[in-house]
Amino acid sequence: MTATNHALTGAAIALAVKRPELAIPLAFASHFALDAIPHSGVPPGQFVFKKYFKIVAVDLTIAAILAVALLIIFKDHFWLVFSCMAVAAGPDGIWWFYRKNLEKNDKTGIDPISRFHWWIQWKEFQKGIYIELLWFGLMIFLITQLK
Ligand SMILES: [Zn+2]
Repeated sequence: MTATNHALTGAAIALAVKRPELAIPLAFASHFALDAIPHSGVPPGQFVFKKYFKIVAVDLTIAAILAVALLIIFKDHFWLVFSCMAVAAGPDGIWWFYRKNLEKNDKTGIDPISRFHWWIQWKEFQKGIYIELLWFGLMIFLITQLK
């Protein structure tokens, strides 16, 4: 899923659970649960990092703007919201190191956690953007209810 949706989900978990010892591991686990839902993207092998980079940059910009807004709105829970957004969105950072593997659909040399992370994303397709938009709306709704 997009970094935006991972981060919003992390924020929603932080605000719903409020206990860091539960919220942070749940936010981390949410990354993999969300990746298991069919979502927007390009399947490995069709992935070209230079082409995809612009989309990643737009996604990260939206995620950063929303993160700043949420951290201002929920300043009483700043560190919990920040931590949960970071651990919910963070696992995709590993793909920077494995970008050549993604381009070639080559799993050699991939660590076991990333292998699982790769395997769990069984369905990435362009029309998955509609699923992403639905999830985005749901998370925004949940967060407004948790205020
Ligand atoms: Zn991921």
